[in-house]
Amino acid sequence: MSAIDDLPPLRDVIRTHGLSAQKSLGQNFLLDLNLTARIARGSGPLEGATVVEVGPGPGGLTRALLALGAGRVIAIERDHRCIAALGEIAAAYPGRLEVIEGDALKVDVRPLLSGAEARVVANLPYNVGTQLLVGWLSTDPWPPWFASLTLMFQREVAERIVAVPGSKAYGRLAVLTGWRAQARILFDVAPSAFVPPPKVTSSVVHVVPRADPAPCALRDLERVTEAAFGQRRKMLRQSLKSLGVDTAALLAQTGVEETARAEEIDVAGFVALANTYAALRRGASAPA
Ligand code: SAM
Repeated sequence: MSAIDDLPPLRDVIRTHGLSAQKSLGQNFLLDLNLTARIARGSGPLEGATVVEVGPGPGGLTRALLALGAGRVIAIERDHRCIAALGEIAAAYPGRLEVIEGDALKVDVRPLLSGAEARVVANLPYNVGTQLLVGWLSTDPWPPWFASLTLMFQREVAERIVAVPGSKAYGRLAVLTGWRAQARILFDVAPSAFVPPPKVTSSVVHVVPRADPAPCALRDLERVTEAAFGQRRKMLRQSLKSLGVDTAALLAQTGVEETARAEEIDVAGFVALANTYAALRRGASAPA
């Protein structure tokens, strides 16, 4: 694919608008149109879709989303220098691109969607990627406002998102993700694909929310996983002491061995522990 629209090549956009990459903003730009199209397609058929993009930068992925038929793209960018470049894309696709200058950690896009089903597609800034994902997975009410998340992460973070029990990467992020969603790695992206190249390989992850996750209060699940993985090498009878409830009762009523360690407990096990913990704190017996 040589061009996906009539806009100038991304290298010219970067030069014209003086968009030298800033490390503090996690700026590693994608200029390869085949790759941006592949990421955009990773979210599924785009015809008429509403997409939220975080960190459009000079707009490579934004252009792919629009060229592949997204009906509406809401793009949140923190770097003021990128806004004029994105304005040129908005002019080329009238009425289909809205650019919001701001911090994606603070912007609530829900009022802009007017109830429309949206998906999130982003080559995320690495310094806030995990925080954004945790925020999206912690959304209430659930099912959330997004139909899917298609996101670029460092490979090591992607592995932590999709990790299974018993693996080194399995931890709080995998439990939260596995509780509320199904996640898989779509493909890896070599450092050389970015300008400037980062030090490590990246991966595109696709996350689809579960319609009906096992009932559990997010805060209780967070407390239990924080305690368990905070001392992941210790047995649960030791690591869960910091919860301030009778640990022996917590484990016995949940049916978990006292000698088990955090990484052996699957998502259903953590949900059960969180629910028993909540019941013990209330002074009630564990849920059936
Ligand atoms: N999407 C572009 C691409 O693929 O070439 C740029 C991706 S670059 C990895 C991350 C982008 O996120 C940068 O444009 C950066 O300015 C922007 N950014 C960083 N922190 C942000 C934040 N908190 N909210 C919104 N955008 C942010």
